[in-house]
Amino acid sequence: MKKILVSGCLFGWHCRYDDGDIPCLDERFLQWKAEGRLVPVCPEVFGGLPTPRPDSQRVGDKVLACTGFDVTAPYEAGAIEAVRLAQENEVAFALMKEDSPSCGSTYIYDGTFTDTKIQGQGRAVELLREAGFPVLNENMLDQAEMLLKEQEK
Ligand code: SF4
Repeated sequence: MKKILVSGCLFGWHCRYDDGDIPCLDERFLQWKAEGRLVPVCPEVFGGLPTPRPDSQRVGDKVLACTGFDVTAPYEAGAIEAVRLAQENEVAFALMKEDSPSCGSTYIYDGTFTDTKIQGQGRAVELLREAGFPVLNENMLDQAEMLLKEQEK
């Protein structure tokens, strides 16, 4: 059975910076969860950051908290751990929370903390793609379903 790496907050963990979750309630996601296919990861928590934590955004090669603190190192550690889990579980692909500086796959915030999004990807997604894993997000369940069928042929 092929597995799927997923963002912990989509899985239902309260791991967001504001201590919230944002569970994916799509029937297919819930079925995959019940089948034991999903491998949850929160790169920020797995990198050593607490919950709650200051809002942070990618700024060039760094990740900065809204307080100005440089949090690049824990983001990097969490991204490496996400790749390790993906490889260990030989996942078919990753399904990650859009807009996050770790998990965003299409859009992220622009580093100005003015609620402005730009095209880009989070650090964990960047490393997952470099390692060869396809990455989708919670708005791409149709594509995820097709990809899973293809990989299970
Ligand atoms: Fe969710 Fe990813 Fe942010 Fe963790 S790092 S809270 S899994 S979006």
